[in-house]
Amino acid sequence: MAPLSSYQIAIDGPAASGKSTVAKLLAQRLGGHYLSTGDLYRALAWKALSLGLDPETQPDQVVEMLPNTSLAYQLQEGNPVLLLDGKPVNLPDLHAPRVAAVVSHVAKIPALREWLLQVQRDCRHLGIVILEGRDIGTVIFPQAKFKFFVTATPLERARRRLAQKGEVPQGATLESVAADIARRDELDSTRKTAPLRPAEDALLIQTDGMSPDQVADKLADLVRQGS
Ligand code: C5P
Repeated sequence: MAPLSSYQIAIDGPAASGKSTVAKLLAQRLGGHYLSTGDLYRALAWKALSLGLDPETQPDQVVEMLPNTSLAYQLQEGNPVLLLDGKPVNLPDLHAPRVAAVVSHVAKIPALREWLLQVQRDCRHLGIVILEGRDIGTVIFPQAKFKFFVTATPLERARRRLAQKGEVPQGATLESVAADIARRDELDSTRKTAPLRPAEDALLIQTDGMSPDQVADKLADLVRQGS
């Protein structure tokens, strides 16, 4: 049988579980496109902050900005680029601590998640897509051919996040980073709309003690066996 040229792989998991690193490596191994859905929420959080909004106390105003917002992944020279209002986003801006501090408040707004549903589903037209997020296997692509839930213990996740320069505030410690991650996990898994949880048919991948390459190799093998 000829290999499929279009399918979705869902990689969900909690903050700093290493899922984006693994999703990027998996995309290289399979010749597909890596897409971060967290960056979609971050882009909207960034825009809300730029407009002077506080997403925690002004969710309605955040929703009001959506009719004047365009957001989409587009292939440019074969690579997916995230365009916000027609311009490529600046990824370091989206990953700055000030955006991380409010993004989970943006992500719990039901109308905003509804708005992003189509943005995410449209990504299937890009071909083989490896989407990484919190609700890809449960809500966005419940029919995805492959679903993985990538996780690691809280301490391991705090260590990994601390090693990512630019993503933690200056002077951050293992304890403060672990507390920030725990706060985000709590918000993400207790929200009413599309909470963070593994899909019933997702494969749980516990990554403590594994390198990103080892995890990506394991997932690539599973995909090849199942294709
Ligand atoms: O994956 P990342 O840490 O960039 O995601 C940022 C935030 O976006 C998460 O903490 C979560 O609140 C939200 N998110 C979500 N659903 C997704 C992806 C991200 O709610 N599919």
